[in-house]
Amino acid sequence: MNQTAEDTTVVIVGGGVAGLALGNFLLRSGIACVILEKHRREHVEHRQRAGSLDPRGVLVLREWGLGEVVEGSVGHDSSDAGMPLLIDGQRHFWKMTEDDVDGAFCPQQILVRNLIEVFLRDGGDLRFEAEDVALQGIGTERPQVSYRDAAGERRVLGCDFVAGADGYHGVSRTAVPADVLTCDTHEFGYAWLTVMAEVPADPPAVLAVHSRGFAAQITRGPNASRFYLQCPVTDTVGHWPDERVWTELGTRFGAPVAREGPITSKQVVPLRGVVFSPMRHDRLFLLGDAAHLISPMSAEGMSLALHDAEVFARAVVRQVENGDPGLLDSYSDTCLGHTWERQAAAVWMTDTMHDSGDASYAGGFRKRIARRNLESMVADG
Ligand SMILES: Cc1cc2nc3c(=O)[nH]c(=O)nc-3n(C[C@H](O)[C@H](O)[C@H](O)COP(=O)(O)OP(=O)(O)OC[C@H]3O[C@@H](n4cnc5c(N)ncnc54)[C@H](O)[C@@H]3O)c2cc1C
Repeated sequence: MNQTAEDTTVVIVGGGVAGLALGNFLLRSGIACVILEKHRREHVEHRQRAGSLDPRGVLVLREWGLGEVVEGSVGHDSSDAGMPLLIDGQRHFWKMTEDDVDGAFCPQQILVRNLIEVFLRDGGDLRFEAEDVALQGIGTERPQVSYRDAAGERRVLGCDFVAGADGYHGVSRTAVPADVLTCDTHEFGYAWLTVMAEVPADPPAVLAVHSRGFAAQITRGPNASRFYLQCPVTDTVGHWPDERVWTELGTRFGAPVAREGPITSKQVVPLRGVVFSPMRHDRLFLLGDAAHLISPMSAEGMSLALHDAEVFARAVVRQVENGDPGLLDSYSDTCLGHTWERQAAAVWMTDTMHDSGDASYAGGFRKRIARRNLESMVADG
């Protein structure tokens, strides 16, 4: 098998939100980088996942001149009356802070598609179908990342830094020795049945707290919604035929879902938080889901990925332009500080929205506490 060697400044493993945002930030800063993505372009551009960006995420993209990638997104403040919060079938409204209204509902596959388009348009080097990625010499001056390209040829990239942005199941994190890496995990003890359906969401987001459990409908584009139903972690998709999904949503919302349409996918996802530390090992830097998972109740997975990408991009720019490694040295602490702050908020929000509903998970005492917390989130509470 042939082996071809090339050089760049940063090899980015993974073309998800973190990797693509980082690639665009570096490209705009004139810093050479190559993004290696395992899957085909079509696959990543159609992969439905998250759909919400926090105000900081939107701001970061705009500050880097990438406002066009969120153009056309629906703002968090798009509903005149505010975001409905159904408590035991009664309509209340979410208390929006000044910050909340600057966020946006932006389906992840659309953000990814736009980031790819802009990166390639502006001359970025993005290689799809990069298989068997392997990291070598992370502790040396010149790490190498090897992979097999779509034609089956083995290629090697020498670089100054490796950005491990290949998600929770990626390979980058395995390059950190086990005795160096700490993993802190919290299991919430319940799951979400997440359901994609060809149904418009109007308003773009509705959350429901009910004695049968949490439920929600969030927009994923003009004619698509993701529905969520809290369920036991032992449930499987087989427990949830379509008819049961619609009936249960109607019960927890206090009224039938306005328009039923075809269900295109279902998945049972246990809710949990995970943080790996440190987020840097020698010349390898972990970004996004490669370093942490956050409860989807917080809808902050994409925003955390953008945060890491921005901090790392600024650190590389400082190093390359000024020879100052200060921001690279503080990368892990900076990102972990932010991550733990968001994890704390996510745990509070997840507990409040779930414990205040079906008491069979956490008990009556927790339900009373959660209901008190819920009052502080309701505009008319
Ligand atoms: C099914 C699902 C549903 C979700 N729903 C929500 C939600 O509703 N709300 C929310 O806030 N968050 C949600 N998330 C989380 C959110 O999608 C992530 O936090 C976000 O995608 C993180 O971005 P990332 O770039 O770090 O990782 P990813 O988006 O996972 O990107 C990693 C990229 O690396 C690539 N890759 C993996 N391994 C390799 C390899 N060996 N070599 C090269 N490339 C590789 C992958 O193909 C992928 O393109 C969900 C996640 C999943 C999986």
